[in-house]
Amino acid sequence: MISKAVLEALQKFVPCENIRLQEPMADHTTFRIGGPADCFVQLENEKQLKDVRRYLELAGVPFFVIGNGSNLLVSDSGYQGVVLQIGSEMSDIRVEGCRMVAKAGASLAQTARMALKHGLTGLEFASGIPGTVGGGVVMNAGAYGGEMCQVVTQVTVVNRDGETMELDNETMEFGYRTSVIRHSAFIVTEVAFSLAHGDRDTIQARMEELAGRRREKQPLEYPSAGSTFKRPEGHFAGQLIMEAGFRGFQKGGARVSDKHCGFIINTGNATARDVLDVIASVQAGVKDKFHVDLETEIVCLGV
Ligand SMILES: Cc1cc2nc3c(=O)[nH]c(=O)nc-3n(C[C@H](O)[C@H](O)[C@H](O)COP(=O)(O)OP(=O)(O)OC[C@H]3O[C@@H](n4cnc5c(N)ncnc54)[C@H](O)[C@@H]3O)c2cc1C
Repeated sequence: MISKAVLEALQKFVPCENIRLQEPMADHTTFRIGGPADCFVQLENEKQLKDVRRYLELAGVPFFVIGNGSNLLVSDSGYQGVVLQIGSEMSDIRVEGCRMVAKAGASLAQTARMALKHGLTGLEFASGIPGTVGGGVVMNAGAYGGEMCQVVTQVTVVNRDGETMELDNETMEFGYRTSVIRHSAFIVTEVAFSLAHGDRDTIQARMEELAGRRREKQPLEYPSAGSTFKRPEGHFAGQLIMEAGFRGFQKGGARVSDKHCGFIINTGNATARDVLDVIASVQAGVKDKFHVDLETEIVCLGV
């Protein structure tokens, strides 16, 4: 529960209509799962972010930043604190030659489309990833041989003191579905990409090809958070899960997708508990059969 004093302070920095109390997180995650956040704030610009962050740090109020919530499992009991969303209100993109600079709330799809419009190649892989630029850089999102770390040159962040800092590619410590941001207090506000001039038709054809591959292989008709598990070295998670006999395995409303066993889907009324139960069963089954540890890729909040 957020106190009246905290609410009044937040209202000094952010318009009232951007602040919601007891906001269901199921409405802000692609899994369509998650209980209420005590307070949910949609940020419109860096100034709001800095002011709010400074205040919450000083007041000792817990907070969590989200983009599109496409890699997120939120507890059924919700989040006892403030969720800060950096989304469509902070999504400007500018292009300077082969350099493209996107605000953290721009969607990866929108950013890839902008690259296409300017005949820039390098972001085709990201066109079907349903996250924001901020979330994408934090997770070092990747697909079909491309990864954010291959094209990101500079990341602008706000630190704990509410000050702006610039991190270069090396400082980002990108790894497989991770970066330094995951284990630090930085909040991403802007990302610069270095792309190359390319042929527009070729770029578009590649994006369409990848979209087709996604439609064919992934259960896009159901809510999910994408691949539930990281790829274990030398294996494919989906294949191990299938061969361990978990295709279609279901607990409550959460199910191992029949189409792609690496995805856990919400068949309609799944709870976070259901998803965690499926995860635990799959991990135990795969460990038992193949002696491989499956590590989760999705980020869990409050669970
Ligand atoms: C159908 C489907 C397909 C997918 N396919 C892929 C794929 O091919 N490849 C892939 O890598 N992923 C994939 N994903 C997962 C997901 O889309 C990516 O991880 C994406 O980058 C997450 O971005 P987001 O904005 O939704 O982040 P969120 O889920 O909102 O957040 C993820 C993490 O980033 C942090 N975060 C978000 N924004 C910021 C910010 N501005 N500053 C600091 N921290 C921040 C959050 O705190 C959280 O820890 C898929 C998901 C779905 C549902």
